[in-house]
Amino acid sequence: MRYSLFSLAGNALTGHRRWQRAWRDPAPKTEYDVVIVGAGGHGLATAYYLAKNHGITDIAVLEKGWLGGGNTGRNTTVVRSNYLWDDSAHLYEHSLKLWESLSQELNFNVMFSQRGVVFLAQTRHELREMNRRVGALRLNGIDSEMLTVEQLKRAVPILDCDPGRRYPILGGMVQRRGGTARHDAVAWGFARAADARGVDIIQNCAVTGIRRDGNRAIGVETTRGYIAAKKIGVVAAGHAGTIMAMAGLRLPIESYPLQALVSEPIKPVLDTVIMSGQVHVYVSQSDKGELVIGASRDNYNSYAQRGSLPIVEEQLAALVELFPIVSRLRMLRQWAGIVERPLRQLRLGHRRLQGDAGLGLGLRRHHRERPAAQAQRSLFARPFQRRPPDRRERRGGGGSLIHEDR
Ligand SMILES: Cc1cc2nc3c(=O)[nH]c(=O)nc-3n(C[C@H](O)[C@H](O)[C@H](O)COP(=O)(O)OP(=O)(O)OC[C@H]3O[C@@H](n4cnc5c(N)ncnc54)[C@H](O)[C@@H]3O)c2cc1C
Repeated sequence: MRYSLFSLAGNALTGHRRWQRAWRDPAPKTEYDVVIVGAGGHGLATAYYLAKNHGITDIAVLEKGWLGGGNTGRNTTVVRSNYLWDDSAHLYEHSLKLWESLSQELNFNVMFSQRGVVFLAQTRHELREMNRRVGALRLNGIDSEMLTVEQLKRAVPILDCDPGRRYPILGGMVQRRGGTARHDAVAWGFARAADARGVDIIQNCAVTGIRRDGNRAIGVETTRGYIAAKKIGVVAAGHAGTIMAMAGLRLPIESYPLQALVSEPIKPVLDTVIMSGQVHVYVSQSDKGELVIGASRDNYNSYAQRGSLPIVEEQLAALVELFPIVSRLRMLRQWAGIVERPLRQLRLGHRRLQGDAGLGLGLRRHHRERPAAQAQRSLFARPFQRRPPDRRERRGGGGSLIHEDR
């Protein structure tokens, strides 16, 4: 069923009893062309684009819990493409452009709100770095502007711009096309659209092993039986390492809890996203009125989706430092997702199962590792093959990993 004003009106007249399920609940088949492990935003999007752009529809997306219950349903919903290094900038800009028409593409309102993302500069060094970043972004054709303290005061009246503060606000930068999206709607939208193209989404189906025939992975053991697969995609964020280990591969990544929390709902006080690297907190206000607050990751490896109290304390101290007005606000919920951090350079590329593993995450020096023609064959590498390597790369220097801050 296509969602539209007419379907809404028609269903309203019939007491909303005729809505179809947004996706099916199929039993797993014994074999698929493609098995994707993880029904987060990325796993579901992979299935959707394989079906839509490549005509591959014999796909199962296997999820150990409920779809969108991993990091996709736990993040702080910020969408932006203001990254310094060329590789990161192009990747995220490609993604931001997809966001701009995603609701129409999926016929599902992902509530993408381009309310702007503001980074605060609270030291002279940060201010200089921001100037550099704004210049680099503009050279890459990505919108970005510097903001003065006066402009910040007008845009965010609740921000404490007192010059006598511990870290006075000296200015900032804004990406006006950045903003927020309803995180679980993204998973639901991709799930519904992938399901409509024939993809089987199988929830409560944990992958417990990967069966190999020599160097080939030929299927997955799951809590709902063995499923054979011609190709297997592991799209499990912080759990990628444990799943790839089932195939005998050790990924060069470590997993950490990354926390967020939300306050009780209050009247609208903040209509943009504010990020401070100096005291380290970022905050936006949800449509329900809650402040959505994020911070840095925990300092230890873990798969517990809780996180530790010192981070919450730091996060709230930073929040009150920027916005003293919220000092008596009560917090409603706190949680963590599990994110991965590379131990060394990850690269796009093909690898045989034995030995080291390549992963479609990082871009650093992939052009040196393998010729462009070879990279062209990699589905994940394609968006990055459109331009020649820049001067730095031709000299043999590197781009950078896609880093949260760069
Ligand atoms: C607190 C927090 C704040 C964040 N804030 C932002 C932000 O503001 N902006 C932004 O862009 N990004 C943010 N992120 C990062 C973002 O959430 C992730 O990059 C994104 O959600 C990852 O999506 P995914 O589909 O790769 O992973 P996930 O959504 O984690 O999906 C992986 C799925 O794999 C499943 N799985 C794991 N093991 C198995 C198994 N053995 N068998 C079957 N299924 C399995 C999991 O249950 C999970 O559902 C944040 C992350 C966190 C944790």
